[in-house]
Amino acid sequence: METKILRINPLNPELDLIAEGARYIRKGKLVAFPTETVYGLGANGLDEEAVKNIFIAKGRPQDNPLILHVSKIDEVRPLVKSIPEEAKILMEEFWPGPLTIIFERSSIVPDIITAGLNTVAIRMPNHPVALELIEASGVPIAAPSANTSGKPSPTLAEHVIEDLYGKIDMILDGGPTGVGLESTVLDLTTDVPTILRPGGITLETIRHFIPNAELDLSIISSNEKIVPKSPGQKYRHYAPKAKMIVFTGDVENIVEAIKDRAKKYEMEGKKVGIMATEETKDKYSQGSVISVGSRKMKGTIARNLFNTLRKFDEIGVDIILSEGVEMGQIGTAIMNRLKKASGGNIIKV
Ligand code: AMP
Ligand code: MG
Repeated sequence: METKILRINPLNPELDLIAEGARYIRKGKLVAFPTETVYGLGANGLDEEAVKNIFIAKGRPQDNPLILHVSKIDEVRPLVKSIPEEAKILMEEFWPGPLTIIFERSSIVPDIITAGLNTVAIRMPNHPVALELIEASGVPIAAPSANTSGKPSPTLAEHVIEDLYGKIDMILDGGPTGVGLESTVLDLTTDVPTILRPGGITLETIRHFIPNAELDLSIISSNEKIVPKSPGQKYRHYAPKAKMIVFTGDVENIVEAIKDRAKKYEMEGKKVGIMATEETKDKYSQGSVISVGSRKMKGTIARNLFNTLRKFDEIGVDIILSEGVEMGQIGTAIMNRLKKASGGNIIKV
């Protein structure tokens, strides 16, 4: 398949390019586009055949439901059974933005979107290209991250090209994404509003509006037996090719533990990658060291995380030793991605 790549201005998208993307979406084709979180792989969310092709292109398991993207709050109504009061408050406050809300679904939502669940996930992305593409298409756009399933999510069009070139119809290249991690997924269909996936909008922020909101147990617990409520969260995810170990605890202890391990693996003849931070990067003498950002500005760590994991793949290391960060605020989302990327291989030091 020919993949058309169009460079688009992320702040002020060219109308003819948006119109072309929208034409593709209406024809049932697959269009990757930037959002403020990561690149999405879009298709007409009401066209079952088109959505099926998303699963094929990504190699995504059929039981992992997709998020529908809208460009206005009014577009939610036909997709859901009802809109809870809490949802109204959160949509007003955080949309457009990195918050996905789970509603009871209406009958116009195809089963393939919800993986047969009676709920549907919806969000309004905060990116001019995404918003204008959805509006011009005139349909909700189903858009999971535009990567091969299981790999780190794409924060640059180059990542989409690497994974999906030849498998999708179009890539709108709007440069790097902002947040760098996927949206927060919040379930409002349960008695206790529950975050199923931590992301750009933190639990602490949501609690200003919904004081009884909680994190799904599987996010906080290190017990791998606790099954996540969100189907997508049960897979190894965001994963580089190399084996990965994450170290948590005091920063000094983390550095010492990583140095020890690096020595050991190098003695075994392994090529070691170290995912460090600005504050620690000069303390390592072994391995290929990449700083993922500053511990004082966790937003930079979120933004660089997936790209850094892909860089280790490019270098071709055998093992990645990664520093962990403190939980809380965006740190919770970062640790969630590190936990998934390492397959739960976390060592407390
Ligand atoms: P992605 O498309 O890669 O951003 O992943 C979407 C995430 O939302 C996955 O973790 C899905 O399992 C989750 N999700 C989508 N729809 C639902 C739903 N109806 N109930 C629970 N989780 C959902
Ligand atoms: Mg994804």
